[in-house]
Amino acid sequence: MPGVLDARDRNTALRKLTAGPLDVLVIGGGITGAGAALDAVSRGLRVGLIEGRDLAAGTSSRSSKLIHGGLRYLEQRDFKLVREALRERDLLVTRLAPHLVKPVPFLYPLYRKVVERPYVGAGLVIYDAMEGTKRPVPYHRHLSARGALRRAPALRPERLAGAMVYYDAQVDDARHTLTVARTAAAHGAIVLTRATATSLLRSDDGSAAAGERAPDTTGGRVTGARVRDEETDRSFDVMASRVIVCTGVWTDLVASLGGVQARYEVRMSKGVHLVMPRAAIDAETGMIVRTEKSVLFFIPWGERWIVGTTDTDWSGDRAEPTATGEDVDYILLAANRVLAKPLTRADVIGVYAGLRPLVAAAADTPTTKLSREHVVDVPVPGLATVAGGKFTTYRLMARDVVDAAVADFPRPVAESVTAQLPLLGADGLPAVRAAAQRLAEDYDVPLTTVEHLLTRYGALVPEVLEPLGRDRSLARPLLDGYPYLRAEVAYAVTHEGALHVEDVLARRVRLLIESPDAGVPAAAEVGAIMGGLLGWSRRRRALEVRRYLEFAESAAEALQSAADLPEPADSVLVPA
Ligand SMILES: Cc1cc2nc3c(=O)[nH]c(=O)nc-3n(C[C@H](O)[C@H](O)[C@H](O)COP(=O)(O)OP(=O)(O)OC[C@H]3O[C@@H](n4cnc5c(N)ncnc54)[C@H](O)[C@@H]3O)c2cc1C
Repeated sequence: MPGVLDARDRNTALRKLTAGPLDVLVIGGGITGAGAALDAVSRGLRVGLIEGRDLAAGTSSRSSKLIHGGLRYLEQRDFKLVREALRERDLLVTRLAPHLVKPVPFLYPLYRKVVERPYVGAGLVIYDAMEGTKRPVPYHRHLSARGALRRAPALRPERLAGAMVYYDAQVDDARHTLTVARTAAAHGAIVLTRATATSLLRSDDGSAAAGERAPDTTGGRVTGARVRDEETDRSFDVMASRVIVCTGVWTDLVASLGGVQARYEVRMSKGVHLVMPRAAIDAETGMIVRTEKSVLFFIPWGERWIVGTTDTDWSGDRAEPTATGEDVDYILLAANRVLAKPLTRADVIGVYAGLRPLVAAAADTPTTKLSREHVVDVPVPGLATVAGGKFTTYRLMARDVVDAAVADFPRPVAESVTAQLPLLGADGLPAVRAAAQRLAEDYDVPLTTVEHLLTRYGALVPEVLEPLGRDRSLARPLLDGYPYLRAEVAYAVTHEGALHVEDVLARRVRLLIESPDAGVPAAAEVGAIMGGLLGWSRRRRALEVRRYLEFAESAAEALQSAADLPEPADSVLVPA
């Protein structure tokens, strides 16, 4: 079936990858790699995508989950980035992924009426103007202090001079990445997770075509990659005419696997977010407030808020960056400067950290000042790398790196068509939305369940519900109090390539960050459903669950280690 990543049939993908030389091998299954695979395959190329862990296991499941122009980049005069990002946002909201990317209003509180309103207002006029007149989100609006408090009673009223409201959009980043990878698979890309590139293969004199001779890892053209299957610990070679490295903060490391020196430096900047219940902050809209260093977002996330973020240099483990007690306190203190009822650590349900892959300039440039624009490089023939950028602009990053990779391709390659390619679940969406009530009746589930599924799978909802006809137990909630169905766990295995309990609880459903106990109470249930489909023994199920508990424990450490919070500052923040 097109676009199905069936974890039970992983060997087929493995076999296909090694069957013969590919046109393009993409390394890295974050949003950039998934985007590059989709871009390349939809130009008619033979494409493979390998990911060392799970799709979106890196930064692409740990972002602020905004699809936005980036108001603060406007202040940095990064007009090109903002313009491009706004266009991408609108394309995603209207055509490419209307089921996944949703407009969201943000309130920008003002504290210095005379100086701030004209300054922020002018910025928002430019923000709106860059988008053009055909727009899927409303123009910004001015609010009085009373109007602001009506929308966000949580704000401290003293010194509040008014507010602006503007629109951006939000997305479940891991789900979006998965959907892009599935769309690539639907067009013929071979997608394999838990497959790590351990070296880049190179022809010895630079003249050999892919697969012509026994390759080594020094010398000329890059001709493929040696790959370790993390599930079996076996290695194999994948030959490809072009290799594209999309490994985010690992980009320099992966390039060096082939003895190639990246011509730019990727700096890692850690960003932490806190997840809180909706009841902790009384507001009907998202909010953005200034901090001393940058901005703080309050982002509505279903029944929760996501609050963040931080921006600090990181040089530790790239795979699992950790939040510290200091990070947690920084966010709470910054939030409490504008909130009437201070937040405490007891309000925090979850905390997560991610690493921004920033393309570095001078070593002493603060990461908040580094550009979010991307850099494409072709350091040696056969190899292209891309780094930097934002989730929002992944389609442009993908287009640019594929353009660079195939610039000297032996046959003509079509131009990128991804601006016209709706992601899986977007085609036919209005008809499935209209059929929501009928689907609820046919599968005997509440209408709210179908509505929940529509925001996650779009037009593919009938595919998720279909097994309920054979197994009614799949209609039960995975965990009481959360909208996820047991059927979604089964679908994660049969259609979304989930191989481990962590893949489901951290990225297919988001219980890792949404539940106060990191989804641990659901781990055994997930292990049982997955085990039934993947043929796990009782021992393997227990091992999988234990592995998840260890993973969830390390994620929660920051909250335990946080020291006592100082009293909130007296005054709200005002712009510098
Ligand atoms: C805190 C924070 C907030 C952010 N908020 C936003 C936002 O709101 N909006 C926005 O537009 N952008 C945001 N960003 C930026 C955005 O999230 C990133 O630019 C984007 O996710 C990077 O995607 P990527 O695919 O390049 O990297 P990643 O998602 O990290 O993917 C790289 C992948 O490569 C894999 N890999 C590494 N080495 C190998 C190997 N040898 N073999 C195989 N696979 C390998 C990794 O496992 C990983 O999955 C934010 C970033 C952070 C950190």
